[in-house]
Amino acid sequence: MKAVQYRTIGTAPEVVTVPDPEPGPGEVLLKVTAAGVCHSDIAVMSWPEVPFPLPLTLGHEGAGTVAALGDGVRGVDVGESVAVYGPWGCGRCLKCAQGEENYCLRAAELGIQPPGLGAPGAIAEYLLVDDARHLVPLGDLDPATSVPLTDAGLTPYHAIKGSLPKLVPGSAAVVIGTGGLGHVAIQLLRALTPARVIALDVSEEKLELARVVGAHDVVLSDADAAANVRALTGGVQAVFDFVGAPPTVATATAVTAVDADVVLVGIGGGIAQVGFGVTPYDTAVRAPYWGSRAELIEVLELARAGIVDVHVETYGLDEAPEAYERLHAGRVNGRAVILP
Ligand code: NAD
Ligand code: ZN
Ligand code: ZN
Repeated sequence: MKAVQYRTIGTAPEVVTVPDPEPGPGEVLLKVTAAGVCHSDIAVMSWPEVPFPLPLTLGHEGAGTVAALGDGVRGVDVGESVAVYGPWGCGRCLKCAQGEENYCLRAAELGIQPPGLGAPGAIAEYLLVDDARHLVPLGDLDPATSVPLTDAGLTPYHAIKGSLPKLVPGSAAVVIGTGGLGHVAIQLLRALTPARVIALDVSEEKLELARVVGAHDVVLSDADAAANVRALTGGVQAVFDFVGAPPTVATATAVTAVDADVVLVGIGGGIAQVGFGVTPYDTAVRAPYWGSRAELIEVLELARAGIVDVHVETYGLDEAPEAYERLHAGRVNGRAVILP
């Protein structure tokens, strides 16, 4: 089959031919219908070392139709359209028992890694899934617009859920970076809270998408951003930073009111400075990772209800390297999705 692989540190992904995978006991083989392109892959491909062997088939947002079942698999049918829950865990520890496999207590010890971030990923014709519990039925949902919900939807959903008690009527929330995750975050904030939503990004084009998906106000993310947000609100109750770089984290901690959440989702290397005399009283900082199995089911229900609508640009498998290039250059509007 064809697959898009990261093969050598520091080089661009390549379209290659690899052996067709076959499901072992307990595994499920999917014919991939859609796979999302996430900025985390760009970060991984910029590291001098990676915590898994290369070559690696990319893609941690996956959807497909069930093509074959390994021995002992029950509860899924060949031909069923499914989305893949990506942060695979052991399935048995306390966190996994609660559906929070994203925080599995034993994944590192057992060498369990997500597809596309260690295990072979979804930007290929076929994808092996380690267990049927990692599949959520898509039903009639379009895989192309639904597949980003497995990360670009699930991650902000999990991030926002933790701050819901603070986003009461009269509150305000800031979204920094209105790309793949951020443009879904704006919709989730609008759907789940009465908060005024202020979106920050670096270009007018990005801010236009933020407006279209429901931001009340947009602010250019520059050196004056914090002052401009403060002028609009006097201080906000939650900031969701989908960039996480030093300047955006500085903005995030500079726009909060008392008892606010600073939620760092982007992995841009920024560190939040919090303390007495530095940030308002009771500032809380969180750095959440991905989301739970239950939350993925909930996010897909929001899409089914028409409440969340991911903006996608679609590409063929052969065009995946170009999609990564465009994402790297900040030229993707919404989410890039590969249709093998
Ligand atoms: P993306 O490229 O689609 O979106 C990033 C957006 O940030 C773009 O619109 C870009 O213009 C904007 N941006 C860049 N610099 C900015 C600045 N200084 N101020 C304001 N906006 C700026 O990326 P994505 O796929 O949505 O991922 C966003 C981040 O989240 C990445 O760092 C990614 O690695 C991370 N991520 C984290 C998790 C997690 O579980 N914590 C999960 C998925 C992705
Ligand atoms: Zn991702
Ligand atoms: Zn576990």
